[in-house]
Amino acid sequence: MLKTTQLTRLTPESHKTLLTILETLPEALFVLDDAATILYANASAQALTGVAPEILVGNTFWRSAPQLVSTALYQAVCETKQTRALTEVQYVSPVTGTWLQVHLSPTLGGLTLHFHEMGGPAHRQEIVPERESLYMDVLNTLHAGFMILTPEGIVLDLNEVPLDDAQIRREEIVGKSLVEDPWWFFSPASQAQFRAAIARANKGETVRFGITIHPREGMEIHLEEAITPHLDAKHHVDYLVMVAIDITARKRAEAEIHALIDAIPQLVWTMRPDGYVDYHNQRWCDYTGLSPEETQGDGWIQCLHPEDRQRVRSMRQRAIQGDGVCETEMRLRHGTTGTYRWFLARALPVRDDAGQIVKWFGTSTDIEEQKQAAERIKTSEQNWRILAETVPQLVWMTSPEGLVEYWNQRWYDYTGSSPEQASGHGWSQFLHSDDYQHTLRVWHHALASGEAYEIEYRLKEGQTGGYRWFLARGMPVRDEAGQILKWFGTCTDIEEQKQTEQRLKESEERFRVLAETVPQLVWVTRPNGQHEYTNQHWCDYTGLTLKQIQSDRWDQLPFMHPDDWESNRACIQHALETGAMYEHEQRLRNAQTGEYRWFLVRALPMRDEAGQIVRWFGTCTDIEDQKRIEKALRESQERIRALIDSNIIGIVSVEGEKEALVEGNDAWVHMTGYTREEMRSGAVIREKIISPEQAPLFEHARQELLTYGQHTPFEVEVKCKDGSYLPVLVGGVLFQEQPRQIISFVLDNSARKELERRKDAFISMASHELKNPLAALKMQASLLHRQLTKQGTQDQLPALARMEAQINKVNRLVEELLDVSKIQAGRLEYRQETVDLDALLREIAETMQQTHPSHRILVRGAVQINLLGDRDRLGQVFTNLISNAIKYSPDAQTVEMDLSASAETVTIRVTDHGLGIPREQRDKIFERFYRVTGPKQKAIPGLGMGLYIVAEIVKHHGGTITVESEVGKGSTFTVTLPTR
Ligand code: ADP
Repeated sequence: MLKTTQLTRLTPESHKTLLTILETLPEALFVLDDAATILYANASAQALTGVAPEILVGNTFWRSAPQLVSTALYQAVCETKQTRALTEVQYVSPVTGTWLQVHLSPTLGGLTLHFHEMGGPAHRQEIVPERESLYMDVLNTLHAGFMILTPEGIVLDLNEVPLDDAQIRREEIVGKSLVEDPWWFFSPASQAQFRAAIARANKGETVRFGITIHPREGMEIHLEEAITPHLDAKHHVDYLVMVAIDITARKRAEAEIHALIDAIPQLVWTMRPDGYVDYHNQRWCDYTGLSPEETQGDGWIQCLHPEDRQRVRSMRQRAIQGDGVCETEMRLRHGTTGTYRWFLARALPVRDDAGQIVKWFGTSTDIEEQKQAAERIKTSEQNWRILAETVPQLVWMTSPEGLVEYWNQRWYDYTGSSPEQASGHGWSQFLHSDDYQHTLRVWHHALASGEAYEIEYRLKEGQTGGYRWFLARGMPVRDEAGQILKWFGTCTDIEEQKQTEQRLKESEERFRVLAETVPQLVWVTRPNGQHEYTNQHWCDYTGLTLKQIQSDRWDQLPFMHPDDWESNRACIQHALETGAMYEHEQRLRNAQTGEYRWFLVRALPMRDEAGQIVRWFGTCTDIEDQKRIEKALRESQERIRALIDSNIIGIVSVEGEKEALVEGNDAWVHMTGYTREEMRSGAVIREKIISPEQAPLFEHARQELLTYGQHTPFEVEVKCKDGSYLPVLVGGVLFQEQPRQIISFVLDNSARKELERRKDAFISMASHELKNPLAALKMQASLLHRQLTKQGTQDQLPALARMEAQINKVNRLVEELLDVSKIQAGRLEYRQETVDLDALLREIAETMQQTHPSHRILVRGAVQINLLGDRDRLGQVFTNLISNAIKYSPDAQTVEMDLSASAETVTIRVTDHGLGIPREQRDKIFERFYRVTGPKQKAIPGLGMGLYIVAEIVKHHGGTITVESEVGKGSTFTVTLPTR
């Protein structure tokens, strides 16, 4: 091992001699080519190196003979090659420690080295090495590794430090390539680093770099290397000086710091005072995807957003130039996604005792979220403004103190104010004076309490100067700490709503007045059945107040009859399901009397726009009386029904103008054969069931019905279903005016009619049978009268006269009977002749006067008109009337006959002063066989046929007969005949 004090080996200038090699020389001789490959080595060379010449030849001199390598020799070789001059060098063999003198001489394409072993250095060279020795000592004390390398990287010399570190001997390394020997640099990466550094140094620059080496197993040394080229006079690289400072301890300390920094959940980096960024923590590398090496210096800037690069660079420049502040926002690219995120980069300088900046410590904080949030807030504020301008309300914003900072355009349009007028507190001048105090009170309370508020007030409209109602709402917006940032609010125009409310209020008032006025019980309930309103009637009747009933549901009201609860509930259910009107009859208790009365309860739902029921409006109408009437009616109807169903007489219901028989009981059906179906179909009309000649009878009855509500029963024949005619007696009452309904009672008259027919037939037959014997008798009496007169037997004559008178009576009777029979059969015959009425009447009066001396027959006036008619029959009329007048006035003395005439009629009145006729029987005396009942009348003989025949004859002549009478005073019969 060479000592550092042996200085000559390091003296590159000590070269003097050039020797030509000689094989035979006792000294070692090497012939090398330009690449320092051994071409030849003599025997002495073997002695010097310990290696056989054949092994040496073909190998590099520096590698094959490490014990001979030295910087001085290397320098001499280089010099010889360049100068092509003989050179001499002296140095200490690194291996043997002996002084060697080498003569170098150029050859064609190479040179020779001639070695001489020496006892010590030549005298003239001693001084310089001593200085160098001092220098080497200094180097050793610095604990810096120091090496001298050829430009190819072959170790020429080195100090103790690397040898100690590697624990190797000098000869093991001298002459070897620093890079290629794997035992020194285990890692290929380190080797590459060296190679690159040596290559750069060869270009003339000083190369600095950090490197980690492994000089021996288990040892790791971090070095800060600097390779500086040594240039010759021609600026060629002569050799390289490599200084390596062991920074392992510092590295370890840094590693600890870095481990610490790596643990920080932030991007951290350090920067040298000159701006060189020498460290990025793991998190930084993880984020950017760069290796720590790639980030060194300005390497990290590739991750910076291009737009931010210039700004960040100038900021860094300003920071390192001394303003001491380094803070900026920048975008860093994410290694995996390639997207940029915003970071806040901040660096602080660490200074030494002298105040010099030693290092910058920096952090990069991800502020993407904040940036985005800020962006969002910006966007949302923009959106808010757009919204505020769009909504149909007045929108405002104030400072936390309540000073208006913003009104939307709608405010300015409405109020017609300028922004200056409306900002701050200015807006309040647009308030209605009546609302001013209250509004400001509410607003100030809200500001003080920080509570949202709602208020209605009127704002002045700029254009019209009128006021409209607004609903103002305000609320504070707070930051995360709860501090109020702003107040936001809107004013919504509710003028329409207010007016509607007012109208509603008025209409409600009207409803209340109405509800209180009507005679019903009125109530309003909510959809849940709770009462909202009841009128006074309701309270009076139920004896309850609205308050009392509000807890009850209206399907279980206490004043409702329990028997009605169930049906009521079903009714409510139905109404709720169908939404139809609720309608129910139920009994409600009168609170005062305790009695239940029937009510018709009705309720209608009121719905909102969505169709939801919001209220039920109900009324209870007292129908107790109606119910009673209904009951009575029902009972009476039942009785009528019983009567109808008794079928004693036929009963039909006749309806409509055509008088259709729509309903009939069994008796009617039985009588006529019409079925109920036929009747219900409306086919059985009056016209169809009577013959046309009977129509006047019905017409008369109808008039009577319409006037008196009923008509006198009359006999008529109805046509049965089988076409036969049934005689019936028909009576009727008008049951209903509109539509007209008549109830007719129909009595089967066929049996009576049959009897009458037989009686008539008998009378007719009997009178015919009586007529012939009577005629014979009359003739016999007449003959006898003539014989007696002839014979002069006067005494027999009165008896005969009485007999003749009786015969005449009977004869008249029979005539009348025959007349009645003929009338009945419609066969009474009339002659058509001109009748001198005056003459006829006088003749009759005279005749009558003769036979009835008891009364004086007075004829007054005259008609002086000839009539066309049957003289005998007309005579029969007046004979009968005068006869009756005499007969029914036994105590009177006169009977008067008054004759008068007009252009159209003649009138004959026959007046007596007798019994008179009771009013109720006056119409009946013209009926067949009718006689006035009464003791006096009974005593007067008669059969009730005279007036019947009289009426028939007058009727035939187109005239009328009427009677005026006063009982006990007498009667006047008036016959009016048309003159024609
Ligand atoms: P009679 O044969 O009964 O007289 P009439 O047909 O002539 O029949 O008269 C009918 C009835 O009218 C009589 O029974 C009588 O009661 C009443 N009557 C008729 N004429 C008179 C009269 N002039 N005064 C009172 N009653 C009269």
